[in-house]
Amino acid sequence: EGPVSIPDLDPSKLTITLTDTPKPLPNPEDLVFGAIMTDHMLVSSFDPINGWSAPEIKPYGPFTLDPASSCFQYATNIFEGMKAYIGPDGKPRLFRPEKNMARLARSAARLALPPFNTNALLELIKKLIVIDQRWIPNLEGHSLYLRPTIIGTRPTLGVAASDRALLYVILSPTGPYFRTGPKPVSLFAAAENVRAWPGGTGSHKVAGNYAPGFLPQKEAAKLGYEQILWLLKDESGWKVTEAGAMNIFVVVGREDGDLDVITPPLDGTILPGVTRESILAIVKAHTDGKLCLPGISPTKCLHAHERSFTIADMEVWAEKGQLLEVFAVGTAAVVAPVGRVGFRDDDSKKAIRDLMLPPYEGGMGPIGRAVRTMIIDIQEGRFEWEGWSV
Ligand code: PMP
Repeated sequence: EGPVSIPDLDPSKLTITLTDTPKPLPNPEDLVFGAIMTDHMLVSSFDPINGWSAPEIKPYGPFTLDPASSCFQYATNIFEGMKAYIGPDGKPRLFRPEKNMARLARSAARLALPPFNTNALLELIKKLIVIDQRWIPNLEGHSLYLRPTIIGTRPTLGVAASDRALLYVILSPTGPYFRTGPKPVSLFAAAENVRAWPGGTGSHKVAGNYAPGFLPQKEAAKLGYEQILWLLKDESGWKVTEAGAMNIFVVVGREDGDLDVITPPLDGTILPGVTRESILAIVKAHTDGKLCLPGISPTKCLHAHERSFTIADMEVWAEKGQLLEVFAVGTAAVVAPVGRVGFRDDDSKKAIRDLMLPPYEGGMGPIGRAVRTMIIDIQEGRFEWEGWSV
């Protein structure tokens, strides 16, 4: 006998219950990231006998869960972050959503949570967005943030994989990351706290990666820095990995006048960001003459690299005047320019030194600005590229 296949997530079984009490829409100017949820959510639960339950779209509200649930005890929690934008045709659009679905499936596999049909989930998410479409502010830089989540709900304390799960998707309207235009952020390089390490879960979007960052983040804030620059020490030195919950790029001027655009490689310690991958692709497309980055000469040669670099490399580039730009990238901000990086030499008792990035008019250097404009134009449907906006 072959394996018994149990029901997968099935959009044809969707039931929709609309709220009787739709909430008033917030004023777009007052939006604080993630603070307000829309009227509805998508929910399906999994158990080993019945598989994924008939999905439901229903009024947003609390769950009742057993206190022994795996998610509370062993952090069997994974999530995604993606956005829906209103296009020029007034219709909602998603940016490369199949990338987020694939990443969610990888995260589920890593925590031994049950697999699910990623196409089915995307179809259901699209239905949810259409139902709550009125929540997407039709203003530039505004969007609806989507938080697909899966939690383990096995209600026993035995330390083992959760054979039960709850999948849900909640939505939150968001405004621009920088309300008054890009402003360079400061990073503090964490030496004593490591976000991710070889063989760990840094390349998966598991909730357990995030809570340990809150204390270093608070400490950095006390020292006057906005985000953490995550490092990993090895034979080559203090390797730069990510910034806050974003990937990182540096732009280095070369002797021949070309520019190297460098981000650390996906070696298992880096979250494979959709924004990172997209920026690498459009920089390569500029180099290959397939598109022209706004404000950058078509003959300006850019070289995209996935290559490790260390804080010491950054210092050498800065001393030689070659470190032109540093920016952090992710769904929330798209591109956030970095103005200052604080770090200590080797041990935590040494004084902090600051590596300063060149200031630019408007807060952002030309490469950061160009890739930011290009990605936003694709996301908001003003520029068609490779079917990325759906
Ligand atoms: N790194 C980490 C640790 C993150 O949480 C995120 C946000 N998902 C990113 C990078 C950026 O990924 P994306 O471009 O897919 O938002």
